[in-house]
Amino acid sequence: MHRLSIMNPAVGPPRCLGCGRGNTPDDPDTMADFWVIDLERDVNWGDPAYLCKYCCEKIAEETGFVDVAAWEECQAIMAGLRKEIHDLEAAADSRQRRLDALEVVRATEA
Ligand SMILES: [Zn+2]
Repeated sequence: MHRLSIMNPAVGPPRCLGCGRGNTPDDPDTMADFWVIDLERDVNWGDPAYLCKYCCEKIAEETGFVDVAAWEECQAIMAGLRKEIHDLEAAADSRQRRLDALEVVRATEA
């Protein structure tokens, strides 16, 4: 399997096995960054088998893969939450130390 541009004149216009995209620059994209995966298998006695980028993305989503932008957004959210947890734990530790010191003072006064 390898990635293939649709503008390769030696191969001809690819047509996706899943959705049929590839022959015409129509819906929903402008075909400027369109690509397909050549499955390197023949169908219909010699026709190449392609999957377009939209079908590849759908397969990836269905199998649990996350795109890079979503992953980086999740990482940023997790980093913020970890810092918030750290700050809350530091504040709780500080309060506990003050409480312990007050209890020592109260015990010596009694
Ligand atoms: Zn497709």
